[in-house]
Amino acid sequence: MNQKTPPIYVTQPLLPPLEEFIPYLQKIWESKWLTNDGPFHQQLEQTLCGYLGVKHISLFTNGTLALVTALQALRITGEVITTPYSFVATSHSLLWNGIRPVFADIDPITLNLDPDKIEAAITPQTTAIMPVHCYGHPCDIEAIQRIADNYNLKVIYDAAHAFGVKNAHGSVLNHGDLSVLSFHATKVFNTFEGGAIVCQDAKTKLHIDHLKNFGFVDEVSVVAPGINGKMSEINAAFGLLQLKGIEEALQKRKTIDTRYREGMAEIKGIHCLREAGETQANYAYFPILVQPDYPKSRDALYQHLHDNGIHARRYFYPLISDFPMYRGMPSAAHANLPVARKAASEVICLPIYPDLRPCQIDLIVDVIKTAGNT
Ligand SMILES: *Cc1c(COP(=O)(O)O)cnc(C)c1O
Repeated sequence: MNQKTPPIYVTQPLLPPLEEFIPYLQKIWESKWLTNDGPFHQQLEQTLCGYLGVKHISLFTNGTLALVTALQALRITGEVITTPYSFVATSHSLLWNGIRPVFADIDPITLNLDPDKIEAAITPQTTAIMPVHCYGHPCDIEAIQRIADNYNLKVIYDAAHAFGVKNAHGSVLNHGDLSVLSFHATKVFNTFEGGAIVCQDAKTKLHIDHLKNFGFVDEVSVVAPGINGKMSEINAAFGLLQLKGIEEALQKRKTIDTRYREGMAEIKGIHCLREAGETQANYAYFPILVQPDYPKSRDALYQHLHDNGIHARRYFYPLISDFPMYRGMPSAAHANLPVARKAASEVICLPIYPDLRPCQIDLIVDVIKTAGNT
């Protein structure tokens, strides 16, 4: 390992120049309005509706509380069918609502929930489906909606990876009953911590806004055991500033994606996920699958990358269904999730962020190419 090169992490937050943030802070200091639907909060909701192409958005303090509140808003109970191949917050939001997660297997090409497996997992207790647009690649939205309509189920998308993703019909966030975003520091668009629920009508948005403010509808009325999920003015202001650079950031991510794909094409045993065919992707992640004809195991390659200062991550390993609070559930059985297990045992997410330089990409490709020789 060359000790002089600083480590390359899997992601780096998008940070605009500090001096551009100062005027926003001055406004907050002047108005003394720090949180509770302040001017920057309102402005960010409006601006995001326009940018994303959605009708209603409600900002949250983070994506996990947005998921928890989305389930509460739709009064989901009983069982919800979801994917084991995601970040643990997806299933945790169900447990926080006293809902039983039922894991269904994923599609081997997209690594998103497989609609056929969803249908097979439905029981009389099933009330909703919670799919994830994994890595920002849209789920099979039409098939999922058909199942939901047939069985009278709600659909809540964990869209934490899908900021700005569009298909032929526009924003993927307009599908299902609700979509939930995360604006965590590691995501494509961040507000340090943050999140949002996208919904389709003003009445639902109002209900969600009550739920994120303890359930208050006015000074003296509380209609539900709501949580404190409000985004502060500082976070909202940072979001507005960051939005100015988002198009450039997405463009840079796209260039990185292309360079990786070209480099990986020559490496035997390394499989890149298919380009998703969206009209607008966000290149949030760059997952590779390390297959049996690669000379090293996935974990050996992961370690080798680490030893060379490349801090790639095994997203998503372990599967959610393997964590202690889930693994006893019947749907967590290994035999129920063979495709997800295989993906979790092969995947490595490579570094991708706007400031990743071409020479760093070439280094990463080279380390993977030559790892078999060592
Ligand atoms: C990041 C993430 C979350 C959680 O969002 P936070 O804003 O960190 O709470 C939920 N689901 C998925 C798939 C994520 O990647």
